[in-house]
Amino acid sequence: MSVFWNKRTVNLVPYVPGEQPKDRKFIKLNTNENPYPPSPKVIEAVTQVLGERLRLYPDPLCTEFREAVAAAYGVMPGQVFPGNGSDEVLGFAFGAFFENAAGTDSDNTHAHNAILFPDITYSFYPVYAELWGIPYKTIPVGKDFSINPDDYSDNNGGIVLPNPNAPTGRDLPSSDLLALARRLEQHNRVLIIDEAYAAFGAESLVPFIAEHPNLLTVHTLSKSASLAGLRVGFAIGNEQLIEGLFRVRDSFNSYTMDILALAGGKAAVLDKTYYDEINQKVTATRDRTAGALRAMGFTVLPSKANFLFISPPEISGQALFQSLRDRGILVRHFNKPRIADYLRVSMGTGEDMDTFLAACKEIIGL
Ligand code: PMP
Repeated sequence: MSVFWNKRTVNLVPYVPGEQPKDRKFIKLNTNENPYPPSPKVIEAVTQVLGERLRLYPDPLCTEFREAVAAAYGVMPGQVFPGNGSDEVLGFAFGAFFENAAGTDSDNTHAHNAILFPDITYSFYPVYAELWGIPYKTIPVGKDFSINPDDYSDNNGGIVLPNPNAPTGRDLPSSDLLALARRLEQHNRVLIIDEAYAAFGAESLVPFIAEHPNLLTVHTLSKSASLAGLRVGFAIGNEQLIEGLFRVRDSFNSYTMDILALAGGKAAVLDKTYYDEINQKVTATRDRTAGALRAMGFTVLPSKANFLFISPPEISGQALFQSLRDRGILVRHFNKPRIADYLRVSMGTGEDMDTFLAACKEIIGL
């Protein structure tokens, strides 16, 4: 607290990212990074621009990167918005499309309607809403942590859903989400689908953006492209949504993607062969790990992501978290209602997961 902070800063409750340990070597299964290295083509592309070019500003329109995303995803470059990781893209999207509490239109249609997202979901969403002053309402997920799209039919100022959801890993079929998009379109509201983990098995809505002018899909290269350290994210949606995002970005910082991120990001989205191969390994490891944990008596939610959401038999989530940490294995524990006995475990290499499984076995005394 400081006397120099304004009221907004005093009232902020920032997002707390997973631990990035500095002083000790852990098996790191706590922030959903990919255990395999980025494509060699990414390293080559970044190395090529690492030099005299750093003297110049990057292309503010990110033309080559957006063209590469457009080619890889079968859309037009004008339907792609580039950003410094998908967190930034999501932050801009909240600011561009959701009305704040004080905002009123001449016909009052956008005022004071809360946006909706699940009670158990990515914990950055309420942070963006608070930052921009957007009223929000959380919708409880079911007992089995599934999302029921019918629960989202209240009057609202827009909806945000990750598919698959985080930290549960559960997904929804595209037909459910498209029905939601159609309903929102009648009220001029935007549906944001956060596809951070879609590459690990959920259905992407990108093929439907042309038919749904209110549908924005948000993507990251942090997980599926092993580039969490480069900070590359993007949104795909109707041209007018993309223009709205640029208006917000250019009222803040015109150069959110640096030259290295632009070059590496472009090479990554164009190297589908490499990434399909490593991500198949990740999903195979996930399914094998889920089976082994269930055999030990763990509750394991069905997952379409690169992580599992699990609850141990007999001991608490906190106790398992701590015992794993003591053995040099970091996972994520959210000390929150409904999920305090669950841990989110990112998929490591097969060898990492063997070590993790052996530790779990020892801790629960099998
Ligand atoms: N969305 C979800 C659901 C996430 O879990 C994350 C990772 N914390 C992000 C978005 C942000 O990813 P990044 O900013 O690294 O692109």
